[in-house]
Amino acid sequence: MTIEGGCLCKTVRYRITAEPLTMRLCWCRDCQYLAAGNATANVVFPSEAVTITGPLSDFISVADSGNVMHRKFCPECGTPMFSQAEVRPHVIIVRAGTLDDPEQVRPVANIWTESAPGWACLHQDLPHFPRQPPPG
Ligand SMILES: [Zn+2]
Ligand SMILES: [Zn+2]
Repeated sequence: MTIEGGCLCKTVRYRITAEPLTMRLCWCRDCQYLAAGNATANVVFPSEAVTITGPLSDFISVADSGNVMHRKFCPECGTPMFSQAEVRPHVIIVRAGTLDDPEQVRPVANIWTESAPGWACLHQDLPHFPRQPPPG
């Protein structure tokens, strides 16, 4: 499987040569900033399968889970592109909105639902985890 994508202004592009490990919709408070009030749609891949071209800005913070997170975005158009936890360098999270074909992936869970606003449209057919689910 080959998956390609990039940012809104096309300064950043990427190519992935692996199946996604999982895809989750994250309602943590940090993700609501990144996704304009909604959940982020996060597709997880093995880091070594992702080739990125173009510059990235890196915002480093400590997530609700306690992990030090790197959140990378296009310095030109600001599109959130990737995130990575320092404790798990072997996996990279790709924001689903940056995929050339968002139909290539499907979410399997809603996570951090306890942080979602009352008006959130939570995917009812998927399991809900109030906080971080167990890995795998
Ligand atoms: Zn851009
Ligand atoms: Zn989140």
